[in-house]
Amino acid sequence: MEFGWSSEEEAHRQGVRDLLAATLPPDWEALAVHGPGSDFQTDYSRTFCPLLAEKGLLVPNWPAKYGGQDAPVWRQFILGEEMWAANEPRGAQYMNVNWIGPALMRFGTADQLERYLPPIREGRAIWCQGFSEPSAGSDLAALRTTATPVEGGYRVSGAKIWTSYAGKADTCFLLARVPASENGPAGKSAIVILLTDMSSPGIQVKQIPALIGEGDIHEVFFDDVFVPAENRLGEEGQAWEIITYALQNERTGIARYEFSRRMLDRGVARLKAEGRWADPVVQERAARALMLCEAARMLVYRVVDAKAHDLPADAFPSVARWAVVQADNGVNDFLTEFLPDGLIGADPVQLAHHQRAIAAGVASGAAEIQLNLIARRWLELPGEPKR
Ligand SMILES: Cc1cc2nc3c(=O)[nH]c(=O)nc-3n(C[C@H](O)[C@H](O)[C@H](O)COP(=O)(O)OP(=O)(O)OC[C@H]3O[C@@H](n4cnc5c(N)ncnc54)[C@H](O)[C@@H]3O)c2cc1C
Repeated sequence: MEFGWSSEEEAHRQGVRDLLAATLPPDWEALAVHGPGSDFQTDYSRTFCPLLAEKGLLVPNWPAKYGGQDAPVWRQFILGEEMWAANEPRGAQYMNVNWIGPALMRFGTADQLERYLPPIREGRAIWCQGFSEPSAGSDLAALRTTATPVEGGYRVSGAKIWTSYAGKADTCFLLARVPASENGPAGKSAIVILLTDMSSPGIQVKQIPALIGEGDIHEVFFDDVFVPAENRLGEEGQAWEIITYALQNERTGIARYEFSRRMLDRGVARLKAEGRWADPVVQERAARALMLCEAARMLVYRVVDAKAHDLPADAFPSVARWAVVQADNGVNDFLTEFLPDGLIGADPVQLAHHQRAIAAGVASGAAEIQLNLIARRWLELPGEPKR
């Protein structure tokens, strides 16, 4: 395998770096205390993403007929790496370009494409993802929010939890269940995806105070909310196929190891400045953390390469997701061991990284579930004996 970048790819990366350097506020590094999911970053994305769109850098890999440039998948990925190295200034909108837009393109109606794609590709749309519920997280298929069919649409009732961006979102990519009926669909087949206007009467959003930053996660309550039938994505019974497709895109779209790598470089710079770098134990531990970042990078590259070559599904998206979480945690462990004062006031950005590293293995689905997938689906290891 050739790991080098082509001259076009190098130029593209440099172009993104130059744009970031010219655009982000001078104190952006310190502003990394606000995570990508924070209110601050969501608001910032409203000015930053239209600028990216104007420069042709928001959705380059989207098909030209949907406003993209038919660019290779690597181009979008390089963009993602540079965004993550800069603490993801796209905020909530990374999700729109990576998986909500592509899911709409594959499964949406002409009317949905016309309504939802322009605001995404112009950098104006904020979406939230209404999947998790108090008793349905890893076991997503157990979700209980109901979508009762009525004339012209559905009436939705229930509660979602841990919903990022809900306080600012215009639209929710909402999963709900058509109530059981005799001979009706059941289990996963009863789930529908409703593209729900967050200003609909009956929706209440409540912020959850959280370790990872202000405005990051929410509870969302639905009390008899009407959603028109034309807002259903795909057919009834097709939701699971759509979710699987969408989440595959989400999990390979995040180059979080770049932010961890930057935090590691920052920590090493501080240790050097304080005359503590000569200690071989410090160097060995830094090398381990670096190795985890680079292993994550290579494994993610493998996934992107498979996508670029349209190869069949394999275990590597799960392996890569696990590796990215290990990189976050490895850097966090190193910084916590050798620069513990960063967590009690000396470096607020280190504290923010520490808090996000704790959440990293849970957000976007618990990382342990990836180990189950690798074991059961790909290694075909036996599961728990049925009792
Ligand atoms: C920062 C953050 C942002 C989030 N944003 C969103 C969002 O925007 N939208 C949304 O819908 N959700 C969101 N979530 C929720 C997230 O998707 C869930 O927290 C995640 O799916 C885990 O579900 P749970 O919290 O119910 O934990 P559980 O599923 O109860 O899991 C708890 C623990 O048990 C382990 N576990 C559970 N089942 C198994 C199993 N079968 N085998 C092995 N281990 C298992 C898990 O690995 C985990 O460690 C977010 C979460 C966080 C932390």
